[in-house]
Amino acid sequence: MVVIVDTITNPLRPRHPEKVNRPDSASPPKPDWIRVRAPNTRGYADTRNIVRSNGLHTVCEEAGCPNIGECWDKKHATFMIMGDTCTRACAFCNVKTGLPNALDAAEPRNVAEAVAKLGLAHVVITSVDRDDLADGGAEHFAETIRAIRAACPTTTIEILTPDFLRKEGALEIVVAAKPDVFNHNLETVPSRYLTVRPGARYFHSIRLLQRVKELDPTIFTKSGIMVGLGEERHEVQQVMDDLRSADVDFLTIGQYLQPTRKHHAVMRYVPPDEFSSYEKVAYTKGFLMVSASPLTRSSHHAGEDFARLKAARAASAR
Ligand code: SF4
Repeated sequence: MVVIVDTITNPLRPRHPEKVNRPDSASPPKPDWIRVRAPNTRGYADTRNIVRSNGLHTVCEEAGCPNIGECWDKKHATFMIMGDTCTRACAFCNVKTGLPNALDAAEPRNVAEAVAKLGLAHVVITSVDRDDLADGGAEHFAETIRAIRAACPTTTIEILTPDFLRKEGALEIVVAAKPDVFNHNLETVPSRYLTVRPGARYFHSIRLLQRVKELDPTIFTKSGIMVGLGEERHEVQQVMDDLRSADVDFLTIGQYLQPTRKHHAVMRYVPPDEFSSYEKVAYTKGFLMVSASPLTRSSHHAGEDFARLKAARAASAR
């Protein structure tokens, strides 16, 4: 049996208390096409120093992202605000769960400083779920956007938010802060929600994305799913249709990888040609941008993708 222990903040507290007593679930061995760059370059070390010296968390580390060697070498880090502890307990996610600490009022400024030091042209900000806060952390998101705008006026800002379930008015606060890209991931197909994402509601997430566009049509909207969690192909196509009904611009599809044996098993490694096929189908359904590959993650190459997204919107308006 594998016991997951958080040795960084408290050696006695498991990182995922709710998963400790679950049986182990084994995934098949990784295929050749899942290859990642080792995190040992100078750029990687520089990025890590800036993250540490500003006391920040990144989803790159907390979620154990396979692209960290490549992204951090290029000084692309995705900041995770509102702490390192999540109030949900999704079956796929490696972020620590439990009762989070109070918000750090200095965090928006610290994030903005790190963005300036890294010289980012495009930054992605995400967060843990904060169901314990009255507004789900919406105002903190808005403050972070405003702090980055003030410190780095030319940097474009992409946010990847929780679902703000049962947080009336929260979405409006975040949209009013005018991020350039609003991303909210569906994570999986609706039939897998109860097992994979039990604290969320599929149609609430679809509606959230649709509402962003209703509130401010200038904001690009983006969403993503993981495959390899037991979904059927026709279900992925239905998700594409649902997202297009919500006027979502950009779809990402990547392979689910199991963080530990206590997490949901990988049911299948989807081969690269199936990702290419999903990409073609998604474009025919009208997305402005699609990224589908085994190592696609919502923030992977986000800067380059944002430039392509803008160009695609301009071309479609002609
Ligand atoms: S893909 Fe995103 S989460 Fe992963 S290392 Fe790159 S920036 Fe971080």
